[in-house]
Amino acid sequence: MKPTPEFQLEFLGKLQRLFSEGDFTATYKFALLISIADLAVELGRDDNSTLELPYKEISLKFIQLFWQQTVPFKEEHVLVQNYGAQAAIVKAISEFRSTAPSPSLLMAQNTREFNKLVNSVNATVKKQPIQYLQNIGGGEDVFLFTPGKLELTLLPGVAYCLRRFHPLVQQLSRSHWIAHIKGNKLNGHLLSQDNDLESFLFETSRQALTEIATGLRKLGSKCHYCGGVVTEADVDHFIPRSLYPRDIVHNFVLAHPSCNRSKSDTLAAKQHLYKWLEFVSMNKDSLSEIGQEAGIITDKESMDSVARWGYANAATVGSRAWIRASQYESIDQSYIDLWN
Ligand SMILES: [Zn+2]
Repeated sequence: MKPTPEFQLEFLGKLQRLFSEGDFTATYKFALLISIADLAVELGRDDNSTLELPYKEISLKFIQLFWQQTVPFKEEHVLVQNYGAQAAIVKAISEFRSTAPSPSLLMAQNTREFNKLVNSVNATVKKQPIQYLQNIGGGEDVFLFTPGKLELTLLPGVAYCLRRFHPLVQQLSRSHWIAHIKGNKLNGHLLSQDNDLESFLFETSRQALTEIATGLRKLGSKCHYCGGVVTEADVDHFIPRSLYPRDIVHNFVLAHPSCNRSKSDTLAAKQHLYKWLEFVSMNKDSLSEIGQEAGIITDKESMDSVARWGYANAATVGSRAWIRASQYESIDQSYIDLWN
């Protein structure tokens, strides 16, 4: 069973209140919302069920989110993510990176020190955002989750809503996160009229994208969509970033800049989806290697859930999929059947 339309509307209303009336001393709450929404997509189901999310998984998401943000902005200093002293999680990741310099998060994850970092982030996540996220307008309104000893439990229907409204949760969290950093006077002089902040905070670096393109070209040099030869290395997010902004290496395909631009933020049509599913399962290991080298998350299982979720959502709301320039088709159940 799915949550009723009334439940979903009420959920959106509360989310709106959370952003307008919540107290955001640090940027942690935005990271927590993004993390639980991502985990709901990766692990949840489209029904009324509850969902347990281990704190360790949430802490790993925090580290993934904050990792690139601990690089000095414009080569000056690390952006301050708290009113007052720097946020503890940013400090912990910065310290970890300075004592155990690893070029990428993926490589760092194989070290023993990394466990210590996870534990320290875990302690802060439990003490701070998990405890305070649901404080709205001076009172507590438990509408998202109940915290347990080792995990939090999303209440019935919440995973459904987080999946259904994932792009909205992401966009709201990101825009408030950016505004928080811009509004912190400790960052002031660095950010005057800066338009690169969003890509610095959340997007894959150009260098990593180039490495991915180089890796993908070793697997084939044709455009995923039109089959033409690609001369310039251009990569496309198969599931658009506007839908799911976390970069996983299995989501990248080679594409002409013109095909990429034309497809834009839409989902690709069934013929492209079929080809992509085949490509990912045939090149699973090579793609993981490309991700390792470029320092991008490699997680075929998550990517599979994300794609399935994206198309199922699109079928529910009657979205159309991109075939080629100015040609679209309806997304229906036959898309979802490709997974069976
Ligand atoms: Zn093309």
